[in-house]
Amino acid sequence: MRIVLLGAPGSGKGTQSKLIMERYKVPQISTGDLLRAAVSAGTPLGQQAKAAMDAGQLVTDDIVLGMIRERLAMPDTQQGYILDGFPRNLAQAGALDDLLKELGKPLDVALLIDVDFDNLMQRLTGRQTCGSCGAVFNRHTNPSRKENVCDVCGGELTHRADDNEETIGKRLKVYEEQTRPLVQYYSERSLLQTVKGEGEIESIYKAVSEVLESCRK
Ligand code: AMP
Repeated sequence: MRIVLLGAPGSGKGTQSKLIMERYKVPQISTGDLLRAAVSAGTPLGQQAKAAMDAGQLVTDDIVLGMIRERLAMPDTQQGYILDGFPRNLAQAGALDDLLKELGKPLDVALLIDVDFDNLMQRLTGRQTCGSCGAVFNRHTNPSRKENVCDVCGGELTHRADDNEETIGKRLKVYEEQTRPLVQYYSERSLLQTVKGEGEIESIYKAVSEVLESCRK
């Protein structure tokens, strides 16, 4: 299954990706995670990306496309993958189409997780991620059992540097202006499916898996 997950920051793409990954045994490819890893490793690519990320802006297409090309050449993507946070604009979507055409392996579905704008700010300010296993929690909507400790592996939960109100506002604006047009892009190519991303994580996942099962048939 080759899946693009679409949705605003805070819509639950990361959380749903992890559940899809377990069920379908395909890797989650998050350009945000790849970029954060490059930033903390201090690589030249990370140094170039950091300023844009801190400002809530998009990193240049060249950097992101280079990362994606490299990642999609790895053998674990043979059976498919979940693209989480990529593409982020029309140029990236077009470049992805070209790349997949070259590989002869087109996308199966672009799945939009749709969350009302007003909910996103609360979700983002409360978000916490496990530094060890990547599990995602939320102080307001999905708290860990013990404060700042991961339920899954006992690792330490941290708050992302760009999950502060000022940067969040900018990221949501970037989403509206640059990423939302992808909804129409994939709709015109008959690849778009939508699930409502509000309520319990499990019930959202149920809707997600129903869509994915229908795409497999
Ligand atoms: P995310 O974890 O997906 O919210 O991404 C965090 C930040 O990484 C974004 O605010 C951007 O600065 C950068 N980023 C992630 N994915 C992309 C992408 N596909 N294109 C450009 N910038 C990206």
